[in-house]
Amino acid sequence: MKDTFTHKGMRQKLVRTLQKKGIKNKEVLAAINTIPRHLFMDSGFIDHAYVDKAFPIGAEQTISQPYTVARQTELLSAEKGHKILEIGTGSGYQTAVLLELGCQVYTIERQNVLFKKTTIFLPKLGYRPKKFIFGDGYIGLETEAPFDGIIVTAGAPYVPNPLLAQLKIGGKLVIPVGDEVQKMHVFTRTSETEFEKETYGEFRFVPLLEKKN
Ligand code: SAH
Repeated sequence: MKDTFTHKGMRQKLVRTLQKKGIKNKEVLAAINTIPRHLFMDSGFIDHAYVDKAFPIGAEQTISQPYTVARQTELLSAEKGHKILEIGTGSGYQTAVLLELGCQVYTIERQNVLFKKTTIFLPKLGYRPKKFIFGDGYIGLETEAPFDGIIVTAGAPYVPNPLLAQLKIGGKLVIPVGDEVQKMHVFTRTSETEFEKETYGEFRFVPLLEKKN
């Protein structure tokens, strides 16, 4: 598992690209500058690791585009010490970004092969979430709630109520909502019963799958 000067140079270029696309959060940019994204991808795709694109990671899933990861993390207002729930562990790249920011991360994946792979891989790079959970993101993680932030990294057909219910007051849910194309939604819990909703640009994610009955 090598990280060379060439990779570091390519990351710096990627960071400049993200800045041009409007990412401002210094900590998020620093995290992307630090994390060896090429190691999160199958070796055949390593050349593409520092291009601002999503890529296949097996099991019909993708590692999100760097811009998307940066934008979602920025919208989450994730900070050191925050307790964050991530839905869709996938390659673990987004998880690593949150850990670089100093968050306590709980991450859920429903796909068994990816779950096993990433559970072994991330700690090898020194990235240790509080918990890896093999389960269904639609129900969130009641036992560890409430959270400062919940980030959904797959396209949801609707906003699952348990996720809203598991936010602290002041906490944020960042979730792409839609079928083919999704609009990024940010819900901020303003009281026990009230939420403020904002929507941002359009994104394309793999679908957030419902449990098979
Ligand atoms: N955060 C990931 C993105 C992976 S793509 C990364 O940075 O690589 C989305 C992931 O969500 C896939 O791994 C998919 O298996 C997972 N997923 C889809 N539906 C889910 C559900 N209901 N619960 C948990 N994970 C789900």
